[in-house]
Amino acid sequence: MKNTIPRFDGEPCILSPIGKPNSRGGYIRVPTGGGKYKMAHRIACTEAHGRAPWDKPIAGHTCGTPACIRPSHLFWASVKENMAVCRSRQRHMRGEEHHKAKLTWEQVRRIRKEEHVPAEHGRRSNVMALANKYGVSYVTIYAIVKGQTWKED
Ligand SMILES: [Zn+2]
Repeated sequence: MKNTIPRFDGEPCILSPIGKPNSRGGYIRVPTGGGKYKMAHRIACTEAHGRAPWDKPIAGHTCGTPACIRPSHLFWASVKENMAVCRSRQRHMRGEEHHKAKLTWEQVRRIRKEEHVPAEHGRRSNVMALANKYGVSYVTIYAIVKGQTWKED
């Protein structure tokens, strides 16, 4: 199956104005009568994209916000696609949390570009200079430029 996971468009999330978060995961439950509930994001996904295709039963979020009902953040996903999107999000989050939000993805990308700029005195690497510049350790920069942390998908 082709990978059809849409990219997060950077637009702000729209949180469901109705319903209550359920006990697990922060998804919003909307009562539909008779003691039954529907998930707000599934309703929104159906409105935006039609009924779920048989092979894509999961309403996935590109933004990772369970309560979000913004149509452009929702897509029908297969189990595999939904797992892939969760994994890539966890990877991003691990990156930012691991370093106690000292660095952001923007800075990490800048570091990766700057690392290739030859440093003064003919040294091949300016890892130390970058560590000083961003106020993090040599090891942190080294791991970033080696791709051991902050893995891009
Ligand atoms: Zn969203």
